[in-house]
Amino acid sequence: MPSNIERLLIIMELTLQDILQTSFVIPLYPTTFTEISIPVPPAPGISGLPSLIYFDIDNRFSTEQRQRIKDSISGVLFNWQQHIIQKWSGGTNTGISQLASCTNTYATRNFRPTWYRGLPIQNVLAATNIAMDQFTQLIKDNGLRKSPRARIFSNIPFPINSSTIFALTALRQSKVSLSFIINPLQLAPSVGNGLLLGSMFHAWLHRAGYYDPKTTSYFISECPMCVMRAYQPKNPIIPDIQFYKYFD
Ligand SMILES: [Zn+2]
Repeated sequence: MPSNIERLLIIMELTLQDILQTSFVIPLYPTTFTEISIPVPPAPGISGLPSLIYFDIDNRFSTEQRQRIKDSISGVLFNWQQHIIQKWSGGTNTGISQLASCTNTYATRNFRPTWYRGLPIQNVLAATNIAMDQFTQLIKDNGLRKSPRARIFSNIPFPINSSTIFALTALRQSKVSLSFIINPLQLAPSVGNGLLLGSMFHAWLHRAGYYDPKTTSYFISECPMCVMRAYQPKNPIIPDIQFYKYFD
């Protein structure tokens, strides 16, 4: 099957999964999955966290590619945990994390997730807290098996190499599956771990309800770019597009 038709079918399935809240699979393309689990690191001040989250990984990924996917998800969990720990700040829960502080320097647009109906989000610090709290929700719903199964598809897009990790922007706050489409060509050693982590973090923000564009000053770009720079300031020699070209 041509990869662009396969991609269309997969996106149709992911859309149905979101609308119907089901793990139903349209068996129109030739692939099978294996379930993997990834440990959830402890996070202070959060009760009811599962110890593991689960993903059905497309068997077309190689062992090495599968490991890189696991590492990038673990990296997202690590950055989420660091934010929670720093915000918890020994029990006050008013700390400003490095992630929030870095993102606050650069993001100016699209702070509001799709499902958000509260008061206007005043600043990036608040936006980062809302986003990471939504990661907590995604983790709980997955690990406690409340959301539809998280499926990670292998698909080489057309035009070739034009994509990294694709995720639909979720419209609801609870029971959102952590399903993605990953371009296996972008799991080559030439794409470093930090770039892959940022790409995965960006995809999680889509599942947390944030919209593109994936350009400078938008929350969905600046927040993952802070993760990719290990919360350090931007280096004027390296243009942002060198990072966000790995987003989808
Ligand atoms: Zn995107």
